[in-house]
Amino acid sequence: MTVRFAGLTALDGVSFTVRPGTVHALIGPNGAGKSTCFNVLSGVCRPAAGSVRFGDQELTGLPPHRIAELGVARIFQNLALPPHATVEDCLLLGRHRLTRTGFLAAGLRLPTAAREERRHRERVREIAAFVGLERHLDRPAGSLPYGQQKLAELARALCMEPRILLLDEPVAGMTADERRRTAAVVAGVRDSLGISIVLVEHDMGVVMRLADAVTVLDFGRLIADGAPGDVQNDPAVVRAYLGE
Ligand code: ADP
Ligand code: MG
Repeated sequence: MTVRFAGLTALDGVSFTVRPGTVHALIGPNGAGKSTCFNVLSGVCRPAAGSVRFGDQELTGLPPHRIAELGVARIFQNLALPPHATVEDCLLLGRHRLTRTGFLAAGLRLPTAAREERRHRERVREIAAFVGLERHLDRPAGSLPYGQQKLAELARALCMEPRILLLDEPVAGMTADERRRTAAVVAGVRDSLGISIVLVEHDMGVVMRLADAVTVLDFGRLIADGAPGDVQNDPAVVRAYLGE
């Protein structure tokens, strides 16, 4: 994929493949093009050249909501939960795209709508337990410590039952303890739920522990791609990080 902004090529013919059921890290110095890459994958930004495919499905040019419906969920770098809503309501919002009965049926309290609502609440509870937030479902999201709010965002994305998750710096701003916990949850998302993950992350400890494959960008170009251990020792990667 190639993306240009006025006078600047943010991504220059970058191409990589995420294998199903893996954590694929996307790393590189600031300004390398990582967030732009997520913007292309999630449909926020249209590439000037190239394409994005998800299995047999062509994603290039589809609007963000269609891409989300196809199972691509994205979590942004900054917190985006409505702070006054309870954790449970935030997660129920994540179920929204899966709701079949309309608001009319729900408003008329039809039995199908009630059943569906019960199912959604059960699933929300399971997912909250998966990330360790089941005791906080009734609390306003904004009242949780930062690390738990980030986990609530992850839980909300999981409530969409995605097939692939785009995580932009999930442990940034976290304490060492929150980092460990989040890394364990992300590994669980891959290993227990079988969801693929594309991970943008500056914490090399987390990348090396979690990633099955690593793609390194620098100034919009792919400079290395492969197993974490190989990429870490690649001279081009070392140079990019030392800023030579
Ligand atoms: P990263 O996430 O790796 O730090 P970005 O993808 O945010 O990098 O940015 C890559 C390059 O593209 C940077 O030089 C940045 O300034 C530029 N850029 C990103 N978004 C825009 C935009 N909307 N308009 C103009 N330039 C942009
Ligand atoms: Mg970025």
